[in-house]
Amino acid sequence: MYRIGKSIAAALALVVATAAAVAQDFPNKPITVIVPFAAGGPTDTVARLVAQSMTTYLKQQVIVENAGGAGGTIGANKVAKSKPDGYTLLLHHIGHTTAPSLYRKLPYDTINDFEPIGLVTDVPMTIISKKDFPPKDMKDLVTYVKANKDKVTYANAGIGSASHLCGMLFMTAIQTEVTTVPYKGTGPAMNDILGGTVDFMCDQTTNTTGQIKAGKVKVYAVTTPKRVPSLPDVPTMQESGLASFDVAVWHGLYAPKGTPKPVIDKLTQALQAAVKDPNVKARLAELGTEPVPVEKATPDALGKQVKAQVELWSPIIKKAGVYAD
Ligand code: ASP
Repeated sequence: MYRIGKSIAAALALVVATAAAVAQDFPNKPITVIVPFAAGGPTDTVARLVAQSMTTYLKQQVIVENAGGAGGTIGANKVAKSKPDGYTLLLHHIGHTTAPSLYRKLPYDTINDFEPIGLVTDVPMTIISKKDFPPKDMKDLVTYVKANKDKVTYANAGIGSASHLCGMLFMTAIQTEVTTVPYKGTGPAMNDILGGTVDFMCDQTTNTTGQIKAGKVKVYAVTTPKRVPSLPDVPTMQESGLASFDVAVWHGLYAPKGTPKPVIDKLTQALQAAVKDPNVKARLAELGTEPVPVEKATPDALGKQVKAQVELWSPIIKKAGVYAD
């Protein structure tokens, strides 16, 4: 008995010592952050800002890789199946928690296949359209979409994306379905809005602010209950008559399940440095948002958020009756 106890203690000591050594040495090569959407879109923008700041803190390159498709589930699956060593991370948004209700079969477990690192930022969305889309304001948009539902097209980043969620809520609210056009991310969707080949979409201000300010797209409303400081003239959906419409896109940083705790701790410190970084704050403010307070850039806060949001969206999505196979 005593001998077994001793060897268990020795083995445990070795595990602790190895974990400490891993953490001391971490990171000793570049870290890849997978963005589950196309380059040039809003999630990509947030990830690149954060990655740059984490690079400075960790003194090691943090690279962004885009793995778009299937509403973010392809990129999430890639990270779920990656080696849990802290060198492959996922920066995903609210869609991480709507996917389990939207997909009949997901190749990964949203809660149990990931280690949360921390929340990153909450980004408002905007309803925008191609420049020459006839409706003038939100009231007009609702009337126009209802009257032209067979020809109007709505762009999104696939089932499970934030743009899909926002569009689904909009269509449910006005009780009208239109044709949706899926992209690997709203970066490429924006190109088609600018080119006029698709009519309208709902997307994060991190993608739309520049185009709105340059007058290259029409904007109808912001999706948060409060107006966005960088777009003070744009009314909210609620002001425009869509009672209780409220969507903001929260983002989180994750590692694969089983990543050693000391490594997660170091990544959390780097994320916290990023959310405090004045450059990150200034750039996000220009894009209509701000990073989360440092106490939310923690595994605990993100873990709680994921569980709560999976529960929140499940009945709403079931009611909307939307599924992907
Ligand atoms: N905004 C996209 C979405 O609808 C994702 C992206 O391209 O960043 O989820």
